[in-house]
Amino acid sequence: MNHLIELNNIKKVFVSDDVETHALTDIHLVINKGEYVSISGPSGCGKSTLLSILGLLDTATSGLHKLAGHVVGDLDNKSRALVRNKEIGFIFQSFNLISELTVVENIELPLTYRKDIDKKTRRALAEAALKKVDMSHRSTHYPSQLSGGQQQRVAVARAIVGAPSLILADEPTGNLDSKNAKLVMDLLDTLHEEGATICMVTHDPRGAQRARRVIEVFDGRIIADSGARTQTTEVA
Ligand code: ADP
Ligand code: MG
Repeated sequence: MNHLIELNNIKKVFVSDDVETHALTDIHLVINKGEYVSISGPSGCGKSTLLSILGLLDTATSGLHKLAGHVVGDLDNKSRALVRNKEIGFIFQSFNLISELTVVENIELPLTYRKDIDKKTRRALAEAALKKVDMSHRSTHYPSQLSGGQQQRVAVARAIVGAPSLILADEPTGNLDSKNAKLVMDLLDTLHEEGATICMVTHDPRGAQRARRVIEVFDGRIIADSGARTQTTEVA
């Protein structure tokens, strides 16, 4: 089966102080293996909420969510963390590196959840990922000793170290100057060429151009999808 992600009738409602926010409504979405999807839409429309659900960082209020054919919506926390660390790499706008850990330790982090990878292999994989983002010379530095562009390259290395099937990026170039933004976009392009499925929220028009499929969200709903034909035939 070619489907990597299936969302069927997904809703997300946040409740705080008795106020309900309908962040996502009636989301139907199929993303096939190897697609490069960009998600755009105005601030507050639900893009990050959608990505967090795709990344198993949050759960939908209702609806069916499958990853690689498996229902993931009702996994317990431990299984959820396992699947997340094995199958998904997440890149955030604000890098989200752990300041107390060195670069190489940050990159090893997702692998520490894996019982099938010993310490030596973990280090070797982390160093290979660092090489890929051209940051080998900073392996023992701490995040605070790096520029924003370098931190994001380290975050990309962390996202890809376990060879995840899905890479999610939430405005990955939002805090970068244009030179570093291009570098990160180029890296994502290369990862896509190597077979990764990429789903990226971006305001960067160059990013949206590189994606082969563009999805537009407005007020918690998908209002346009250049890959909608695949979607309707596969879901129906
Ligand atoms: P975007 O990423 O498109 O800017 P978000 O997904 O962050 O939008 O937010 C969608 C809506 O959900 C917004 O109205 C936001 O205020 C609300 N929201 C997001 N996260 C939470 C939360 N943890 N608690 C309550 N409301 C939230
Ligand atoms: Mg957001």
